[in-house]
Amino acid sequence: MPVPATHAAPAPRRTDKEPFDVDEAFRRLRIAVADLPKAAMFELRDEGYGSPFEQLVGSLISARTRDETTLAVCRRLFAVARTPEAMAALHEAELVRLLNGATFPEPKARDLIALSHRIVAKHGGRVPDTPEGLTAFRGVGPKIAALTLAVGYGRPAVAVDVHVHRVTNRWGYVAATAPERTMEVLERTLPERYWIEINERLVPFGKWICTGERPKCSTCPLLSMCRQVGVTSHR
Ligand code: SF4
Repeated sequence: MPVPATHAAPAPRRTDKEPFDVDEAFRRLRIAVADLPKAAMFELRDEGYGSPFEQLVGSLISARTRDETTLAVCRRLFAVARTPEAMAALHEAELVRLLNGATFPEPKARDLIALSHRIVAKHGGRVPDTPEGLTAFRGVGPKIAALTLAVGYGRPAVAVDVHVHRVTNRWGYVAATAPERTMEVLERTLPERYWIEINERLVPFGKWICTGERPKCSTCPLLSMCRQVGVTSHR
């Protein structure tokens, strides 16, 4: 019977592979990415920009924007405004200028000003701490909401971007066609102790090791347990 796209993957029958052990996978991942640049939101957190509002703003800016650019833009913006009140007080043109380099600066500026006004007016200046409250803001989808909850509030939330989606599906740990479905599967199957950490580890792992094209399987520390689903060419 075909496996529905939202179910945990049955690992393909590969007799040359160890069973996939998620604890061992995370142990190896921590070592593999220790010297790689951190995922943008975790880098911002470690630089002192870890409030829920800063994480919400940073992850919205990061949409379709390279991590290096996101970091530079966020540092510039947070030097001027790092609270909903300060952001709401900015003129849209000034915010567009501060967002220079990020993709879609005009719509992002409009969304940031609108959500800042709403946080001040309707939430007493406090960022909502539920997925529903966060995704009610224009421009905020499940990934941004999860990053805000996970990194900003330290709440268990699985933030699935292209890297988390691609890598967990290659492992054979998930069989899903879209990041939203991967998030649903991981919320059911991944032990909660890894919900925040999975994004922190798999973003650099996916950028530098399990890359979109020709992943570095031959030197990958997870090779012995990874099913390499869909990998047709690798280094
Ligand atoms: S073995 Fe290859 S496909 Fe599997 S995690 Fe490593 S780099 Fe990715």
